[in-house]
Amino acid sequence: MEARQFFIQPHRKEENIKIHRYCPRCGEKLENALVEGTDRSVCAVCGFIQYLNPSTGVVVLLEGDGRILLGRRCGRVLSGRWSLPGGYINFDEDFLSAAHREVLEETGFHIRILSILSVVTNVISSSLHTLVIVLRAEITGGAAQPGDDLDELMWISAQDSLPEMAFESDRHIIRRFFDSSSFGAPVDPRFAGSPYNLPG
Ligand SMILES: [Zn+2]
Repeated sequence: MEARQFFIQPHRKEENIKIHRYCPRCGEKLENALVEGTDRSVCAVCGFIQYLNPSTGVVVLLEGDGRILLGRRCGRVLSGRWSLPGGYINFDEDFLSAAHREVLEETGFHIRILSILSVVTNVISSSLHTLVIVLRAEITGGAAQPGDDLDELMWISAQDSLPEMAFESDRHIIRRFFDSSSFGAPVDPRFAGSPYNLPG
């Protein structure tokens, strides 16, 4: 199965891009202007230029006894559908710490990150474009407890059919993992283990 790294969400919503209309620095109304050949919103008073970039996130393919952990989503995006655990990277954290934090918040498990499996672009709507790092991990502690943006957890094996998935990219990642022997790129060992202290 060939790797895919670009996904456009089918039936994505067209919505107004959530951008500033007034300058976040000085409060002046922003104007459209060409900046290096691209149409941007700019502030004529202080020179602020509004750049739009993808949001960066991580998802974790968490293995246990040949199975993969899925969670049912209950947040704002595609609630009720299933996905791999994960989320956005905070500005003050690296992507590996973000993975430890998100998995603990959403599943209750402490993990060891084993490898970097892939990186995918996901165009989810006209205002949501994510760049997601896909990590493979195993459980080192904790107990199953859905939380944050997930309200139910489920283990699936290679023989199981997938439930209604939120993202085509997750479906691809899981099928590719079960179909191939690719184990990805190694991880910086300083961040592979859980940075959280385990009780007991
Ligand atoms: Zn300004």
